[in-house]
Amino acid sequence: MRIVLLGAPGSGKGTQGKILAAHLGIPKLSTGDALRAAVAAGTELGKKAGPCMAAGKLVPDELVYGIVEERLAQPDAHRGFILDGFPRNVAQAQVLDSMLARLNETPLDRAVHLHVEDEEIIKRLHERAVQEGRHDDQPDVIRHRIEVYNEETHPLLDYYEAQGKLATVEGVGTVEEIMQRVLKVVA
Ligand code: ADP
Repeated sequence: MRIVLLGAPGSGKGTQGKILAAHLGIPKLSTGDALRAAVAAGTELGKKAGPCMAAGKLVPDELVYGIVEERLAQPDAHRGFILDGFPRNVAQAQVLDSMLARLNETPLDRAVHLHVEDEEIIKRLHERAVQEGRHDDQPDVIRHRIEVYNEETHPLLDYYEAQGKLATVEGVGTVEEIMQRVLKVVA
């Protein structure tokens, strides 16, 4: 299975992606986690990405393509993968499609959209700010990340709908309930 997870920040992509990856026995790549690791390690990539992330903006597309291609080219991704946080705009989605073709991989199977209302998103991100202290979980940055999602990432739903790959799952409930919904649409 080749799956992309779509959803606003705080919609639960990380949580569901992790369970789904374990369940299907395929790797998961979170571009957000990879970028945070690069920032923490102080790499060139991290130095370029850090300020954009702290401001709640997308980092330049070119910075994430390398991360994704490197991971998808590894042998364990050949059986399938789950992408969390990529693609985030239509340009990235088009690059992903051509990347898979270039790596001789079969195309994506499914785009799973975790749907959560803005109000609930804001509540969750504020809670996460308290619990995890992520730098981009400050109130004005949260607002900006939601705007960026609505403007740039939300149009991807149409992109995948047009390819007949979109499945929308209600992202509110217990982790287990949501997982069952996700499993149903990827079965
Ligand atoms: P969330 O989905 O909770 O907003 P992520 O952990 O997925 O957070 O991403 C955190 C930040 O990393 C984003 O706000 C953005 O700056 C950067 N980022 C992650 N993935 C991408 C991507 N595919 N393209 C551009 N920027 C990205």
